[in-house]
Amino acid sequence: MAKKNSSKKHFEELTEKLFWERRLVWDCVSEEEKKEIFAFAERYKNFLDRSKTERECVRNIVAMAEEKGFMPWKEAKEKGAKKIYWVHQGKTVYLAVIGRQDVREGLAIIASHHDSPRLDLKQNPLYEEVDLVFLKTHYYGGIKKYQWLARPLSLHGKVILQDGSELELRIGENDDDPVFTIADLLPHLARKVQGEKKVSEAFEGEKLNILVGSIPLGDRKVKERFKLAIINYLNKSYGMTEEDFSSAELEVVPAGKARDLGFDRSLIGAYGHDDRSSVYTSLEAILGLDEVPRTTLACFYDKEEIGSDGSTGAKSRFFELVVSNILEIQGIEQNVSNILEALTASRAISADVNGALDPDYQEVHEKRNAARIGYGVCVTKFTGSGGKYHSSDAHAEYLAWLRRLFNKSGVVWQTGELGKVDEGGGGTIAKFLASYGMNIVDCGTPLLSMHSPFEIASKADLYMTTKAFKVFWKGENN
Ligand code: MN
Ligand code: MN
Repeated sequence: MAKKNSSKKHFEELTEKLFWERRLVWDCVSEEEKKEIFAFAERYKNFLDRSKTERECVRNIVAMAEEKGFMPWKEAKEKGAKKIYWVHQGKTVYLAVIGRQDVREGLAIIASHHDSPRLDLKQNPLYEEVDLVFLKTHYYGGIKKYQWLARPLSLHGKVILQDGSELELRIGENDDDPVFTIADLLPHLARKVQGEKKVSEAFEGEKLNILVGSIPLGDRKVKERFKLAIINYLNKSYGMTEEDFSSAELEVVPAGKARDLGFDRSLIGAYGHDDRSSVYTSLEAILGLDEVPRTTLACFYDKEEIGSDGSTGAKSRFFELVVSNILEIQGIEQNVSNILEALTASRAISADVNGALDPDYQEVHEKRNAARIGYGVCVTKFTGSGGKYHSSDAHAEYLAWLRRLFNKSGVVWQTGELGKVDEGGGGTIAKFLASYGMNIVDCGTPLLSMHSPFEIASKADLYMTTKAFKVFWKGENN
């Protein structure tokens, strides 16, 4: 008997030593760290509530950075300051803490995106139909259209009037604001036009129209008097005419605040975890830095959800100008070779979320490799889909470096793969930065209901994401 017991113990020890078990954050943290998890969640929710569009994100990032002594590039150059920010077209922002080392030895970069799937107003959106007034939209990014029906929506964005004056709208977030909505068809009549169709065909983009009014202006002789009433309201309130929509960027997003989710308040349900969870976690990490040997750069990109194109996306060469400016502040010649030398030697995290194993749809995931809610920050070696196409696929050497760093710093982490090999897939900005020759890997918080108006994240995972980003920047500097 004694021998059997000892051999049982032996195999248990062997299993513990050799197997790789995912670790649940809640099993690994002290009472004190648990308090930090919940405290972090409050700060994050506050950021989410104030940051529902890319422009709002940029404004809030800059305000928080200025509080910590960051200066715009030109001012920083004059004063020789080490904490710098660059804003490009109000939609992308970079924060840097200039290090003591020559930047050609490489930067430590964390890059995330602050655009989220939403509905954009068209440039000629206003119309009336059966005595109701609507705004037409064109959806932005990957949405399941039905999720946007029959729910309160808010309107955010910028309008530039004929005279050049600019106005910022944010309607539907305060308790006494009106909200907007897209009406859905009653189930009694939906059998054929929705129920018998494939989901992908049952909901049409051109039917995602926002209901905005129903009281006419004038009597029945007035042409389009319902539409007239709304444009008249906008004119009286904001000085707008209909043509001003042509120089506006108005975004329709879910109304309301981020909420604690579950009896135990362990989760957060909110719009925009993808990718504002990465934005906020990396922002807190960089705002906590002062003196660094290696130059630290946080990139907050726009346009990721539609392919990272455009002047404010991760493909924009504004990035190279930022690196050129960093060379200048270090007194190094600004030429293409030096920019590329700095970038090639850099280490980067593409900070982005991953889809967590969905309990009701486990069949689309490969369970051994899918990220799980509550098991910490998710490291995603490659994205893409069947055959790893269009993925940057991080190198083993780099993963080895990162894993050692996380393990020695008490970061609870897991690996993730987005779905079964042949199921589908997605991409991130990793490949665009990888094209400069730097090491980069995707790293972020796993989500349920990803890309929905109410995405779900674990407070434990969010906390581990911020911890991972902090040790990445601090570890870089060891
Ligand atoms: Mn994302
Ligand atoms: Mn996304």
